[in-house]
Amino acid sequence: MDKLAIYLRLSLEDAQAIADGFDKDESNSISSQRVLLHAYIRGNEELRGKEVSEFCDDGYSGTSMERPGMQRLLKEVKDNKIGCVIVKDLSRFSRDYIELGTYMNQIFPFMGVRFIAVNDRYDSRDHAGSTTPIDTAFQTLLYDLYSKDISVKVRTSVENKCANGEYVFGQVPFGYEKSSEIKNTVVVNEKEAEIVRYIFALALDGNGSTQIARILNEKGIPTKTQIRHPERTGKSGRMQAWDNVSVRTVLNNRFYLGEMAYGKSKRKFVGSKGGIAVPMEDWKVIPDHHEPLISPEDYEKVCLFRKGANTARKGEKNPLVGKLFCGGCGYSMTYKPIRGKNKYRRFECRKHAVLQIPECCTCFSSDLLEETVLTMLNRELMVRGNAAKENQSLVSFQKSCISRLEKRTTECRGRKKQLQAEADVLYESYALGIIQAVSYRQQADRIKEQVALLSAEEEKHGKELEQFREEYHRTEEDMKQVIQYSHLEVLTQEVVDIFIKEIYVYKDKRVEIQWNFRENGKETE
Ligand SMILES: [Zn+2]
Repeated sequence: MDKLAIYLRLSLEDAQAIADGFDKDESNSISSQRVLLHAYIRGNEELRGKEVSEFCDDGYSGTSMERPGMQRLLKEVKDNKIGCVIVKDLSRFSRDYIELGTYMNQIFPFMGVRFIAVNDRYDSRDHAGSTTPIDTAFQTLLYDLYSKDISVKVRTSVENKCANGEYVFGQVPFGYEKSSEIKNTVVVNEKEAEIVRYIFALALDGNGSTQIARILNEKGIPTKTQIRHPERTGKSGRMQAWDNVSVRTVLNNRFYLGEMAYGKSKRKFVGSKGGIAVPMEDWKVIPDHHEPLISPEDYEKVCLFRKGANTARKGEKNPLVGKLFCGGCGYSMTYKPIRGKNKYRRFECRKHAVLQIPECCTCFSSDLLEETVLTMLNRELMVRGNAAKENQSLVSFQKSCISRLEKRTTECRGRKKQLQAEADVLYESYALGIIQAVSYRQQADRIKEQVALLSAEEEKHGKELEQFREEYHRTEEDMKQVIQYSHLEVLTQEVVDIFIKEIYVYKDKRVEIQWNFRENGKETE
């Protein structure tokens, strides 16, 4: 448990940067990462002298966890072999911020694994026992991490002479314009922004995208092309009108929330203009990047309205369906498979749109949830497995009690038989006139009394014995169950049904599970 794991990663871009001389001191090379981490361990009294395992991925991107070294590391963490994971910086571990967050906020704390990112000055121990500071610290770290990422991207594009002072992230979205004061930033364009706000207001009133387009056209509201490229508008009548697609483009754009998403496409080769689309869940997002045009609450409302409009959901099965509840309002969560605009599988609070309770867990990725539940379950099984091993002593105690009671019962029966024989002899003596009637009565009563006591004792033992046998059987069954499922790789319907009663998810992505395990020999409700 106390073993340290150091994780090293070099991406192809890092290697390229070293080769091109951008990373002059080769600070990201595998060997310098190794030197840094070993120096850190040596300099830390608590860590010094502990066994160190090295996990390394040379030439792998941090956006996916599918890296051989990472997979080996996570396997050892899951097997409870690692007490502490140390990396040079958070981006070595993962560049996917949801993934990183899950490991930092949920998986590692659950597994009791300490996590240290040396250059980010992050040590999970500093945040132990408190939930609020970790979030703030985490946000700051993420922001740093992704600004670093951006600066690298911007620099490379400048180096490649492709940017030419253009807005680096492409065309400025409708409602904004490039700032004349600060390069590469955007400011609100009031004329366009008014139209964007109007579109969202219409959507909030429950209008569909086709209806909205009709209203805009009726009111003669200009399109983006009409405003930005009036010279093009004469060519085709269609181009001048709003349609459901152009309305949806506005409603779907999270840029209006003040979010900046990038990494939407990968370049085919350095300097090429076109790109390969990256799935939405892999986009990098910076919140509060620019002035928003709509509040998150309104945006969410619009999303829910629009989702409600096309709710012909297919019966895709998810094992957690029916077990999941919103920690904010207590209502069950609805499963949404990938469909249409829904780019990732998720659970949504059924009542949030109606009740508007701010504490609601509006949305939770089902992949993330399944992984978290599986980790929590394996952890629980491990703890219970250890308890079951400790239960060996309980089992042997129960066994000895059972045999003691069985022995005592046999003794009682034997003694009763003996007394019965004595009574027979006594009666015979009385019948033959050897003893007096008074003496016979006295002795016979004494025997009767003893038999009655023994019968009472026998009955009491019988009850105790039954109870012990039942408990013993239950302990044995529990152990069998725990041993049978000691480490699970997949969360199947069967496993969920056996072990999980209810799951509550909270706004801060906290997950609480009510187990189906028997507590203290009693069946939980
Ligand atoms: Zn709710």
